[in-house]
Amino acid sequence: MLRRGRDFIQLPGPTNVPERIVRAMNRMGSDFAEPTFTRMVRACMEDLRDIFQTKGEVYPYVAIGHGGWEAVLTNLFAPGDRILIPETGRFSESWRDMAQALGFATETVPGDWRTPVDADALETVLRADRDRTIKGVLAVQIETSTGIAHDIHAIRRAIDRADHPALLAVDAVASLAIMDLPMDAWRVDLVLAASQKGLMMPPGLSFVAAGPRALAAAEEGGAPRKYWDWRARRGEESYMWFYGTPPVQLLHGLREAIDMIQEEGLPQVFARHHRLAGTARAAVSHWAQAGGMAFQAVVPESRSASVTAIRFAEGYDPEAVRRLARDRFSVAFGGGLGELYGHVMRIGHLGDLNEPMILGALGVLEACLKLEGVPHMPGGVTAAIDHLAADR
Ligand SMILES: *Cc1c(COP(=O)(O)O)cnc(C)c1O
Repeated sequence: MLRRGRDFIQLPGPTNVPERIVRAMNRMGSDFAEPTFTRMVRACMEDLRDIFQTKGEVYPYVAIGHGGWEAVLTNLFAPGDRILIPETGRFSESWRDMAQALGFATETVPGDWRTPVDADALETVLRADRDRTIKGVLAVQIETSTGIAHDIHAIRRAIDRADHPALLAVDAVASLAIMDLPMDAWRVDLVLAASQKGLMMPPGLSFVAAGPRALAAAEEGGAPRKYWDWRARRGEESYMWFYGTPPVQLLHGLREAIDMIQEEGLPQVFARHHRLAGTARAAVSHWAQAGGMAFQAVVPESRSASVTAIRFAEGYDPEAVRRLARDRFSVAFGGGLGELYGHVMRIGHLGDLNEPMILGALGVLEACLKLEGVPHMPGGVTAAIDHLAADR
């Protein structure tokens, strides 16, 4: 079938790559030892500190977020170390699986994938660790599989109340440049991100921002590692920061992405995501009145700025809706991950997105609900328009 117009990517990643970034990357190869290139990459790393809201070090990797996870684990912890990973959904599970495969001892605070991390339960676990053998708490800020934004500040305060020295590392892959995470102000020791979500780039880069306590832990300890090792990634030349060839074209894209975020302003980037997420939620709340669906995130304040996860009533198939949206209407929505497959679909509303894009996607989704016979209160798009119109 001939397709006209634009395909819409309403996935929670990868996200739309803006034309400015595509153009910035569209270039021939060049010598990565050129001083101008080295200066550009150094400036990117400096500017990323502002986006991470830290004075710490930012280490770039040619890797997706999963690589970043391994960098975090192997730099901070030694095999056998106990690590506490509160259960938030598919991503906390996968990070835990990786930690186990690498020989770390993982503990969890059980979660139900529908409510935010219970900070009091986390405090209880840490208080019970009298010998202070838990070395780290690994938390996911926006758990993309459930659409829940977990309260990192509450987790920080719980660690403080327990007076526990564990490092706090946060997966902000789906939240950097989307919602606020004042790394230094909240004394988060490490934050991880990847290029293909809030940074609006293609997949292929991940970043780890490390504060003083994380840097100290890595300097003295960590696990056997080489590619991921921060200590091997220092020096004057850009190839040292990448422990090999810098990804030249991606880095030109990164420069453009940072420029775009700086031009808009980080608070404005957060506000735009908040507004567009509210627009999506207005439609879903409206549709849900007919009983065919509900928010996966039961606590309204925990619904994230990146992604809205919709749980279908028993007997209705989100995969059929997704297929129809993709094949007939050129809109890609996210499916359910892990145990949520076949029960949940997800609207991504992160990255390079504006009002007409979200309204278009919501319009298509309402059409697909109708075509597939999923019970919904008609008029969700009008509710979304009302949400936008109320915000002058
Ligand atoms: C997307 C995502 C990841 C993994 O990213 P990849 O680049 O696919 O490895 C990790 N954590 C969260 C919260 C994510 O949303």
